[in-house]
Amino acid sequence: HAHSTGRGATVLYMPSLRAEAVARRMYDAELHRAWERKEFVLFYQPQVRLADGTVTGAEALIRWRHPVRGLLPPAAFLPALEAGVLAAPVGQWVIETACAQAALWRKSQPNFRMSVNLSAAQFREGDLPGKVASALAAHGLPPEALELEITENIILDQQDTLLGQLEQLRALGVVLSFDDFGTGFASLNLLRNFPVTQIKIDKGFTQLMQTSPKDQVIVVGLINMAHQLGLTVVAEGIENRADAEFLSAHGCEKGQGYAFGKPVPAALFAECFCPRRDDLRSA
Ligand code: C2E
Ligand code: MG
Ligand code: MG
Ligand code: MG
Repeated sequence: HAHSTGRGATVLYMPSLRAEAVARRMYDAELHRAWERKEFVLFYQPQVRLADGTVTGAEALIRWRHPVRGLLPPAAFLPALEAGVLAAPVGQWVIETACAQAALWRKSQPNFRMSVNLSAAQFREGDLPGKVASALAAHGLPPEALELEITENIILDQQDTLLGQLEQLRALGVVLSFDDFGTGFASLNLLRNFPVTQIKIDKGFTQLMQTSPKDQVIVVGLINMAHQLGLTVVAEGIENRADAEFLSAHGCEKGQGYAFGKPVPAALFAECFCPRRDDLRSA
């Protein structure tokens, strides 16, 4: 059916689009219920120093323990979440939960660093640096215990306060990482203008390295470029020893991937990757 907007334009109401809008609203209601019922949880994936295999920290990754559909990955709900009003409060919960967890794990691993993914909504709120500083203070964490990951999407969200907030976060002393580096259209240009201290090479490059000489060249080039800019490098998506060795041989400092550990609930992470203090004593 066609409907005139009164400005000479004609809007087509497609039944499928309407159904989509209805589905989106239902999903929105379900996300609110999930938030109220505390169904969002954080999983943790180890980050490893490639030179010696030491676990240096973890990346916190959100999951939804859906009462009917089971454990849902971010791909199943994050786009809907980020389109709605819950993006900022859930993002703040991620920061606080991850900081509390980091404080606990730093008791047995003093240099443990927790990495957290941010979304554009958290910057749109306007006082992210203040909130991060409060979270650190509340848990007695030094700034280097926290790493914040930003993506090109956040930067392209085009908020006038973004750069200022990033600079304040840098001044706080937290580590700022450019996540999924190389997948966007503007990575190189953005790298010049934003105060990040680390890049995370997207798993798309890492995973094609073994079979594609071109991807090998790109990865080595990214590592060298990052180092010349004074940045450290984390490679994502390392699934086998050969990839880890190749990356390490080319100077990539850290890695993350199924070869070292999948994202797991906090209790399992602690069991697998955090030495208990009495273990340390008896060692
Ligand atoms: P990301 O930040 O790039 O996180 C890495 C993703 O790669 C994770 O997917 C992780 O499980 C997966 N991964 C890690 N190692 C391997 C590997 O060896 N092989 C393969 N195939 N995959 C690997 P996940 O957990 O599904 O998260 C997807 C994305 O959702 C994240 O990508 C991040 O952009 C976003 N995300 C996750 N948690 C949060 C959060 O708390 N806040 C925000 N804003 N975004 C989040
Ligand atoms: Mg990430
Ligand atoms: Mg990534
Ligand atoms: Mg990402």
